[in-house]
Amino acid sequence: MQITNLFIVFLLVLTLVSCFESASKNTPIIESTINTATTETKQLNPVFNDWKAGVKISFDDIKQFGFEKCFSFSKIPDTVFSRIKGKSFPENCSVDRNNLRYLKILHYNKNGEILTGEMICNEKIASDLIQIFAELFQKKYPIEKIHLIDDYDADDERSMSDNNTSCFCFRNVSGTNELSDHAFGMAVDINTLYNPYVRIKNGKEIIQPSNAKEFCDRSKEFDYKIIKGDDCYNAFVGRGFQWGGAWRYYKDYQHFYKK
Ligand SMILES: [Zn+2]
Repeated sequence: MQITNLFIVFLLVLTLVSCFESASKNTPIIESTINTATTETKQLNPVFNDWKAGVKISFDDIKQFGFEKCFSFSKIPDTVFSRIKGKSFPENCSVDRNNLRYLKILHYNKNGEILTGEMICNEKIASDLIQIFAELFQKKYPIEKIHLIDDYDADDERSMSDNNTSCFCFRNVSGTNELSDHAFGMAVDINTLYNPYVRIKNGKEIIQPSNAKEFCDRSKEFDYKIIKGDDCYNAFVGRGFQWGGAWRYYKDYQHFYKK
C-alpha cells in the first residue's frame, strides 16, 4: 500500500472514531427526551373533572386539557341546577331551564394569574360570551372572579361588593317591579365593585354596590375600570351588546346587555 493510501485509511478511521464519540455524547440527549416524555404524562388538574370557579391553573394545564374545552358551554347539568334552584332560579322563575346555558371559562386577574370561571346565560348569547371571554383571555384582560351568583345566595349586593362578575339571576331591576336583563340571562356585570351603578334620585345618590363610592369618580385611574374603547368594551360592543356606562341619565358601568 502506498503512503498516500495509508494516509486515507488513517483519515477514515479517525472519522469513524469521532462519529462514535459524538453518538456517545448524544446519549444523554436521548435520555433527557425520555424524561420529558415521562413528565408530560402527569395527572390532569382535578378541576377539569369537576369544574368550579376560582381555581388557579397553569398554561401547561390548559395545553393538556385543550384550550377549546376551557371555553365551552352546555345545557345546565343537574349538579349545577341543584346549586341554583331556589336561589338565582327561584320557584317563580318564568325562564325555561332549557333556554339557559352553563359556561366554563378562564380569565386572568390583575396579578397575571389564570383562574377558572363559571357563568349561566341565555342560550341566545352563549356563543357570544364564549368568544368574548376567549378574546379577553387572549388579551390578558383582568377580571377578578367569575362565580355563579348562587355562591352569594343570589344576593346581588353581596356579589357586587365582592367584585364578582356574573350574568343570570332571575330578579327585578333594583327598586322596580320590572324584570332585569339578568332575569333572562341577557346581561353580564363585569368587575362590579370597580364599575358601579350610579344614579341620582330625588337629589340623593344611589350607588350599587354600596362600598363603591370611591370608584364613581371615573376621572381617576384604578385597576379593573371599564372605559369606552377598551378591550372589554370592544369585545362586547363589537358583538352587538350595549353598555350601561353610555346611558344618559344614570350609569351602570359594569353592565353589558343584548336585547
Ligand atoms: Zn347588570
